[in-house]
Amino acid sequence: MHRRITGKLVIATHNPGKLAEMRELLAPHGVEAVSAGELGLAEPDETGNDFRSNAAIKAIAAAQATRLPAFADDSGIVVDALDGAPGIYSARWAGPTKDFNAAMAQIERLLQERGATTPDKRRAHFVSALCVAWPDDHLEEVEARVDGTLVWPPRGTAGFGYDPMFLPDGHSRTFGEMESIEKHGLPPLGLGLSHRARAFVKLAEICLEPR
Ligand code: IMP
Repeated sequence: MHRRITGKLVIATHNPGKLAEMRELLAPHGVEAVSAGELGLAEPDETGNDFRSNAAIKAIAAAQATRLPAFADDSGIVVDALDGAPGIYSARWAGPTKDFNAAMAQIERLLQERGATTPDKRRAHFVSALCVAWPDDHLEEVEARVDGTLVWPPRGTAGFGYDPMFLPDGHSRTFGEMESIEKHGLPPLGLGLSHRARAFVKLAEICLEPR
C-alpha cells in the first residue's frame, strides 16, 4: 500500500540547486519542507551501486536522524559513448570545488577521444531516483529519465551541473538556456520534462495530495 506524505518533510540534500528545485516542486502540494542542511544533518556516504539505492541511503539516514519522513533524490547524467559514465559519480566528477565547467570539459575531452562528434554518438540521459523514507522503515521509490544529446560548447547560464551541455530531445535549447519552469515542464504546462520533474509526477501520484 502506498503511503501519503502529510505534515513536515525533511529534504535530504545538501545541494542548493537540487534543494531549490525540490522546494519548488513540493510547494504546490502544501508540504512543509525543511532541509537536511538547515537541520545540520551529516551527509551519509553514497555507497550504493545505482541511483535508486543511493536515494534510499540518503532518505533513510535523514528519517532515522530526525524521526520525520524524509525525501531524497539521487541523480546524474549517463553518457552512452562513455559506457554510462559519469552516472552515479556525476557530482564527484566536479571535484571538491564543484567545478562543473571542468566536469563538462572532461566529458567533452573523452567524447572527442572516442570520435563522438555527431549528435547520434553523443546520446545521454539524466536520471532521477526519488525515495521517501519514514522512521518506521516504510519506503516509496520512483525513477525517471530524460533523453537528449550533448552539445559543445555549453550553452546558457540557467540551472546547474551539466545543464548547459544537455539538449533534451524535441527542444532547440539546452537545459542551461531554460527557465526552471520550462525545464520542469510540469502540469498544467506539460507532463514533466526534466528527469526530476518526471520522477516527481510519479511520486505525486502515489504520495501527495492533488494540487
Ligand atoms: P547527487 O544526486 O547529489 O549524487 O548529484 C548528482 C549530480 O548530477 C549533480 O551534482 C549534478 O552535477 C548532476 N545533475 C543531476 N541533476 C541535474 C540536472 O537537473 N541538471 C544538471 N546536472 C544535474
